[in-house]
Parts: sequence; C-alpha cells; structure tokens
Amino acid sequence: MNEEELKAFEAEINSFVGQVVYPTTAADYDINETMVRQWAEVLDETNPAYLDKAWAATSSRGHIIAPPAMMYVWGQEGFQVTKGRAPNAMSNLVATFNKYGYTGVLGTNVKQDYRKESQIGDTISVHMVIDNISERKTTARGTGYFFETLSTFTDQHGDTVGTQRFKVLKFIPQDQPATASGDGDALEVPTRIPSPRGHDNKWWWDACDAGKVLIQRCKNCGALRHPPRPMCGECQSMEWDYIESTLDGEIMSYTCLRHPVIPGYPKDPMIAVIKLAEGTHFVANIVGCTYEDLSIGMKVKGKVEQVDEKTVLPQFYPA
Ligand SMILES: [Zn+2]
Repeated sequence: MNEEELKAFEAEINSFVGQVVYPTTAADYDINETMVRQWAEVLDETNPAYLDKAWAATSSRGHIIAPPAMMYVWGQEGFQVTKGRAPNAMSNLVATFNKYGYTGVLGTNVKQDYRKESQIGDTISVHMVIDNISERKTTARGTGYFFETLSTFTDQHGDTVGTQRFKVLKFIPQDQPATASGDGDALEVPTRIPSPRGHDNKWWWDACDAGKVLIQRCKNCGALRHPPRPMCGECQSMEWDYIESTLDGEIMSYTCLRHPVIPGYPKDPMIAVIKLAEGTHFVANIVGCTYEDLSIGMKVKGKVEQVDEKTVLPQFYPA
C-alpha cells in the first residue's frame, strides 16, 4: 500500500466515525431477578443489595437494585446471533479492515461509567455509535488501528443509566506480509502467552522453569491432582506436598490446532491429553513427529524445554 492508498484507506475507515451501530433499542427483557441471580452466581458476587430482598428492604433504597455492571447484559442477543445478523456500521467497518488485510482482532479495553441505579422491572435501552478511530499504531501484535464504540444505556424514563466504551484493535497479523509501506520499525518477536502465576499455581510454574514437572499430592489421603489447586477433591484436605513426574506417559486423546493461527505459537501445534505414569492427566504439546504418527495409547516421554525466548514448558516426544 503506497502513501496515497493508505490515505484513501484511512479516509474510508474514518468515514465510519459517528455512525450509529444500534439506534436506541429497548431490551427484549426487563431487568429481572432470575438473570441477576445467575449473573451473581457466575461472578461469585454476593452483595445483598442485589440478591437479598429482606436485607434490601431495610436498606436506604428499600428494595434490591440491579448490579450496575449488568447494564450491558439486558440488551444482549441470544444464541440466534450465531446464525448471522443484518449488517450494521460496525460489521461494515470490520469488513473494511479485513478487506485491507487488517484481519486480526483484539478487544483491548472496556470502560463503564454508571450514572443512575436501576431496579427490577426497569427497561434498559442501548444506543451504540462508533466513537473514534486512532491513528495507525504499531503494537506487539502487529500494525493497526484502535476503534472505540460508545454505548449509552437509558431507562424507561429516558434517564441515562450509564455508558460503556469498548476498544478494539484491528491489526495485520504478524505472520502476514505487511501491506503498508513506510514502516521500518522492527517488531518484537511474539512469544507464547505467559503462564498465569497465582497464589495456587506459581510454585508449579517456578518448578517448571527449573526443569521439573511436579504433581500435587494430598498429605491426608495421598491422592494426586493436576492442575494445581488448593483442595483435595477426594477428602477436601488443604494440606499438600508434591512428587516429581518421570514424564513417562501415554496419549489418551489428541488434536491439531490449525485455526486460529496465534502469534508466538508454532504452526499447527499438536496438543494431547497425556496420562502420566503416576496416574494424573496432563495437557501438553507433542513434538518430534507428525500428526499422522499420533495414535491413542501411544507411549510418549516428556522433556522440559525452552520453547521460546520467555517460555519453558514440558513437551512430549514419541517414546
Ligand atoms: Zn485428600
């Protein structure tokens, strides 16, 4: 893409700014207790202001209120959305990006702003507009543009309940040749997604970095478990130690991930559920053979290896 083509492309995408994605549309269902309870259960939310009618009756509100973060929930379409929907400004903008090679998509930010409390029985309407598109940016994921939608939620009185800004990066995935010119910046070589190291599993990953695969063992009943978690599923004891795996195993099930292609990962990685000799199951990559070589019951042997600049992982080879 030369400079002129780039300008024309940017003019085309910028023409979407200000376009309405959804005109003010009332949700199919009013705010209801069933959905609030389900949402709260999924998120482990226990605030009695949302859930406990008796408690709420004694509160300053005198009744339960809807969780403000649910304002976006009420207008959500159901699974029929998977059967397709009429094109709108956002799908047209996305199609324009895709046409020029900006096929990567990554939701980067959601920002909600709450203005008015809602309660059971209120009807929420949403109005969504494409609010802004950034300059062209080079990110670790690839070169592209951030676009942001602004949704405004109102109730049956016409009062604004809140707003939501949703930011999306549309980018040229790095394994495709860049079509835009004049961009000589060297991009960082992507690595695998870093392992999440929380209170309950950091010890396991730290051992992996040191070349060992450990299996958690209940100190009370001796049951082994993986992945790491605080409580024994057999006896509910929270006392544990671990053993080191020999990394002898056999394939119980396997697949090849051909799509999507994920930056930082090998092409067509082979992934298997492996039954370790110790008895626990383990999901890992299989390397050192082709997909056609794989079979259920095949014996494999693991090795803890540096797989990219930042990542150490156990991988399994045919034994
Ligand atoms: Zn136990």
